[in-house]
Amino acid sequence: MKIRVLGAGWFGCHLSAALIAAGHDVEIHESSGRIFNGASGNIPARLHLGAPHYPRSSATQRACQEHQAEFLKEYGHLTRSIPVNIYAVARDHSLIDFGTYQRILRDQVEFITLYDPAEFGLTFVEGGVMLGERHIVVDAARAHFAKILDGKIRFNTPIGEVDSKNYHFTIDCSFCANDSAGVDRYEPCLVVLLKGPTDKSVTIVDGPFPSLYVWNEDLGLSSLSSAKWTPFSKDCKTWGEAKALLDGLSAADVERQAQFMISDMAGFYPAIRDLYQVEDYRLSIRAMPLSGADSRLVEVVKVGERALRVRAGKIDAVVQAERIIKGMIAQ
Ligand SMILES: Cc1cc2nc3c(=O)[nH]c(=O)nc-3n(C[C@H](O)[C@H](O)[C@H](O)COP(=O)(O)OP(=O)(O)OC[C@H]3O[C@@H](n4cnc5c(N)ncnc54)[C@H](O)[C@@H]3O)c2cc1C
Repeated sequence: MKIRVLGAGWFGCHLSAALIAAGHDVEIHESSGRIFNGASGNIPARLHLGAPHYPRSSATQRACQEHQAEFLKEYGHLTRSIPVNIYAVARDHSLIDFGTYQRILRDQVEFITLYDPAEFGLTFVEGGVMLGERHIVVDAARAHFAKILDGKIRFNTPIGEVDSKNYHFTIDCSFCANDSAGVDRYEPCLVVLLKGPTDKSVTIVDGPFPSLYVWNEDLGLSSLSSAKWTPFSKDCKTWGEAKALLDGLSAADVERQAQFMISDMAGFYPAIRDLYQVEDYRLSIRAMPLSGADSRLVEVVKVGERALRVRAGKIDAVVQAERIIKGMIAQ
């Protein structure tokens, strides 16, 4: 079959490679000038274990657990372990208490409870655990797909009709840039890259809290994000609105938001001020699904006679999306 894939993020790249391997004639159209120009290239990229980050969504927990092994089988070489990976519950303003958090984790993941979080430099937390969660090395993943999809991607393509008669199927992997059906809102997001030690990650759950997460060990980079300060807005109803907001930001706006994040993190992990320096700012747009309960599941929907759209949740669901799409195009 002749298949067009829109978007060269994690979903577009993985699906293209899988469909080429299955014998299809695949054209990849990317509206920007490079692979992973959207969310996939500009995020913390943790390989979620489920419960630690999403204690309020059992559906997301199950999905993460199901997808973990198949993702690692295919892309394990693009991931790294983090020597000290701490998830801690804030003492104040948390949506969950530490006892409940541990109870939720207990059934699902292996973890070590920290006897004394202060030993790890943490303050104002009720308790913490250490986990074996891995992270995806974004630069390695970009290089991997650049190599295996070499010559197959058309960059800087105009944004045309999604449903086209010229292809048996078009698969829209634009992270819902082309249509807001099923999307609650588009969040224009900031992630800060910090230079410093890469042997430790600290994530404060569950509420408006920050997270310092190893990003690229070779470059000495960690990402800093925050449930409160990463989104510049939670009110954008279209991708265009979110893009216009990002385009209108001044360097001072971005820097101010980054400083809020750093201050928040310093409240829990004061060493951040001495050990890390801002290296870069990464902007992206997240399509948040309509579904409730903090859910982050992948969906594939038919959006025309010959058009399918992937609504991404987490990166680890790429193989699940492949399964669904192969089933849909075989019908
Ligand atoms: C702040 C933040 C933190 C996150 N943290 C994590 C995390 O730690 N772990 C995790 O698993 N997930 C995380 N996510 C979710 C993750 O980013 C997404 O699930 C995933 O990157 C989506 O990949 P994608 O390929 O669908 O979209 P994208 O990576 O956004 O790629 C879409 C591509 O489509 C292109 N495009 C747009 N319109 C068109 C068009 N009409 N024609 C052609 N090309 C087009 C864009 O230029 C872009 O390159 C996070 C998201 C955000 C925003």
